[in-house]
Formats: sequence, C-alpha cells, structure tokens
Amino acid sequence: MQVAPEPDRSLVLQLGAALLAWYRRSSRDLPWRRTRDPYAIWVSETMLQQTRVETVLPYYARFLRELPDVASLAEALEEQVLALWSGLGYYRRARMLHAAAKTVAGALGGRLPEEPEQLRRLEGIGAYTAGALASIAFGRRAALVDGNVTRVLSRLFALELDAKSAAGLAAVWAVADRLVAVVDGPPGDWNQALMELGATVCVPGEPRCGECPLSTQCEGRALGIAATLPRTSPKRKPRSVRRVALVVASAERVVLARRRRHGLFAGLWEPPAADGDDPEPLAAQLGIDGRALRSGGHVVHVLSHRRLEIDVSIATIGRRRRWGLPGPDYDGVEAVRLDELLSRPHAALARKILAAAGVAPLAKEARPGLPSKPK
Ligand code: SF4
Repeated sequence: MQVAPEPDRSLVLQLGAALLAWYRRSSRDLPWRRTRDPYAIWVSETMLQQTRVETVLPYYARFLRELPDVASLAEALEEQVLALWSGLGYYRRARMLHAAAKTVAGALGGRLPEEPEQLRRLEGIGAYTAGALASIAFGRRAALVDGNVTRVLSRLFALELDAKSAAGLAAVWAVADRLVAVVDGPPGDWNQALMELGATVCVPGEPRCGECPLSTQCEGRALGIAATLPRTSPKRKPRSVRRVALVVASAERVVLARRRRHGLFAGLWEPPAADGDDPEPLAAQLGIDGRALRSGGHVVHVLSHRRLEIDVSIATIGRRRRWGLPGPDYDGVEAVRLDELLSRPHAALARKILAAAGVAPLAKEARPGLPSKPK
C-alpha cells in the first residue's frame, strides 16, 4: 500500500515560497479574507462547506449584517437563523452553528477557543473547520483538508490511494500536516493558498499546469497522471424518488407546511408534499377536494443521494381558513402572505415548486433576517 510521502524541508520551503508569492499576487478579493474577526471567519467557513464562493457571498454579507457577533447569533431565534440560511442548503450547518454560538456565548465567556482540539469540541466543528479557524483566525500551525486541498496534494505528490477511503484521507492529512508545520509564512495564508490553487488552477478534470506556481515540483504532472488524480471509486447514482407537491394559493397567500425538527429540511417551510404519484390523499389530508386539482408542472431536484421527481398540483385557497396537517413529516400548516414568504425559512426546492406553479414571492420582502426575536 502507498504510504504518505514525507517531503523534505527544502522542498516544503520551495513550495511555500512559490505558492505564497502566487497567492499574494493572484488570490481573489473575498470579504472573509479582509477580516481577522474569528466569528466572521467561522461563519464564512461554515457557509463555504459544500458550497460555491459565488453562492455564499450574499448570504455571508446578510448574515453578518443581521447577526454581527457571537452574542447576537446566540440570542437569535432558530427561525431567524434558518431564514438567513434559506436557499443555501445543508441546513444542519446553520443549526449547529447556532448551537455552538450558544456554547461559546455561555460556557466559554464569548470567546472562541484557539486550538483545533478545543474547537472540535464545539457543535458542528469538524477537522476541516477547526483547522481553518485555528490557522486563519488564530495563526496556529494547523492543517486543513477539503476537496480542493485533496486534489492539489494528490497531484503534487502523486498520491494514488482512493481519496475517499480512510487510508487515502489519512495520507492527505499527513502530507497537509507536514507542510503546514514546516512552511515559512502565515499558516492561514498557506492553507488558503492551497484551497485557492485547487479552486482556480488545479481544477477538477484537466488542471491548468501552465499557470501553476508549483508545476516544476509536481510529481503528478511529471508522471503524466495529474488529470486522473485524485483517485476515487465511482459515485453511486442518486436513487430516483417520485413525489407530489400541492401549491394551494390565492393572489395574496399560499399554503405552506413546516417540516418537523428532524430529518431532511427540518424546520423549513414548503408547499405540502409526499412520496408517491397520486396527489389526492395529500389534498384530502389538507382538507381539499382532489377533483379541484390542476396540473402545475414537474420539478426535478437532485440531493446528494436522491433525485426527487416531483409532480406539482395546484388548487385555489377559496374560503377555507383552517388546514389539516399534510402528513407525519409536518408539524405546522399555514396560509402565508406572499410578501412574507421569503422571510420564512425555506429550501431552494420550495421556491422551485412555487415557480413551477406560477407563484412568485413579492419583491419587497427581500429581507430574510425576519422574523426577529420578540421583545
Ligand atoms: Fe495541479 Fe498541474 Fe499544479 Fe500539479 S502542476 S499542482 S497538477 S495545476
């Protein structure tokens, strides 16, 4: 089995000098790189997990505007935190960030710990985020490994282990640990430079080796195998699941249901939906005559393990004021005003379903910080 290489000190110093000089010249100007505030860096690193920089930018600005420090996040209602996260996906991140902020504001006296091992004791902080916070916010010589770092290091050192396997991950972490311990320069910059190289030059598929500051030291390139690295076992195809969704609306309101606090989309609002291909049982639970339903199109939404194929049906609100709970996945149901819609926590999928049915939230609501904590 291939073991992690231990690059010698002079090679690491060369790599460090070349990559850090490139980073200072070419890195993108991003708002979280202009701050040393550990809280802001924590928020950005949490949002950036599994999510593109361009997507995160407006969410980051809005989140910090509404909840500028650990104390305000700790005091916020979960509904407000989820509303600020609506559309960003992986909502568990927001819940964990909120829980950890309460721990920091309470038991830790308002200060984030500085060492990776202490950071990892907080809710939702794994090895990556602990390394990012310790190195970027506190200047600790802590490594981090994400998809970009895995790709760069696998190519640079021609690591041919399956990068998703325990042995492959351990090898990448071992190399990352060795590099950050030796490199001459701020460890936070080094870690960010590795990620930046992976995001902009050593990209998935065909790397742009001609633009790379590490090309003369790159073993993967020298061996002609860079584009085939990192090795991973083939991804399983997401399982296809058929669902139905109901958009019950008038010109001013739309009926939304809130998911229970556990499982997929926990605590988020959406048009009522259920597995299957017959919308009538769902309509009956809500209290609507299934014969009044019209077709509202088809929506496809791909999650990490599932591909949701959703038939959307439409009905008119009429005079009804009370609605039955549309099944065991939900713990609330309400006819929500369209101008209030975006201030409710919701997933991007809810917007897709509403758009398929021709229901658009009104523009004046674009203040997802609401609702605020009651006085
Ligand atoms: Fe990646 Fe090419 Fe640079 Fe090697 S030389 S690190 S493969 S971009």
